Amino acid sequence: MGRLDGKVAIVTGASRGMGESHAKRFIKEGAKVMLTDLNEESGQKLAAELGDNARFTKQDVTKLEDWTRVVAATEEAFGPITILVNNAGILGPVTTTVDLDEEAYQKVMSINADSQFLGAKSVIPSMLKAGIGSIVNISSLAGLRANYGFPSLAYVASKFATRGMTKAIAAEYGANNIRANSVHPGFINTPMMVEATDEGGGDALKEIFLGRLAEADEVSSLVLFLASDESSYITGAEHKIDAGMSAH
Ligand code: NAP
Repeated sequence: MGRLDGKVAIVTGASRGMGESHAKRFIKEGAKVMLTDLNEESGQKLAAELGDNARFTKQDVTKLEDWTRVVAATEEAFGPITILVNNAGILGPVTTTVDLDEEAYQKVMSINADSQFLGAKSVIPSMLKAGIGSIVNISSLAGLRANYGFPSLAYVASKFATRGMTKAIAAEYGANNIRANSVHPGFINTPMMVEATDEGGGDALKEIFLGRLAEADEVSSLVLFLASDESSYITGAEHKIDAGMSAH
């Protein structure tokens, strides 16, 4: 028996990195999964590999009309949605506040934070129909604290925002059996991190108690737990997965 039998999930940013890993674990545990991403080619290929319980829809998470389309396609394929993983995100430019241009700031806020509002707004009506729901908002260690000039103010602000939104949703919809939790990864071995650092972590490695980056699948274990009924009494909470980086 799978840990997500009977569940219907949307995972955003699922064409690569952690989103891909979460989608794979969900399928393995019996869920039906709608993968979404801007990158259609990789997303379609991955969904085909994952079999009949997976579908892909191209989506820009900053657009409400795209959310409407994704919710309709998911309900049509699988029925009411019971899990939403708001995973899509970008790092944006790594630069000081004075040098951060307004357009770049808005883009980071829009993809990382506004998208999670639009996702909740669009998916909660389907969860209300299902009578149960779990929203997992991917924040970051940067949603708990700022560190040594990496990443930018925009990234930090966007990840603090998702943490606040998570608590607001948990408070508003707890009575409807809809839970919301935020996940705060440290340094994870994904294309985003590899693109951002020369040596896959750089100086930050010194601060990681376990002395290595996490693999995406290690984060999927936490996301799976929060998505499943095993975490039925956990909502409005922050879940760090950082090998001690925030314990200093
Ligand atoms: P990733 O490898 O860059 O994957 C992110 C995915 O999101 C990409 O497939 C990307 O598509 C997609 N995406 C970007 N903008 C989008 C949009 N507007 N609409 C739909 N999809 C979009 O990143 P990751 O490292 O797996 O990160 C996943 C999440 O974890 C992000 O929210 C990130 O901020 C967070 N996080 C990551 C780390 C880390 O160490 N890696 C640490 C803390 C938190 P394209 O490739 O087409 O742009």
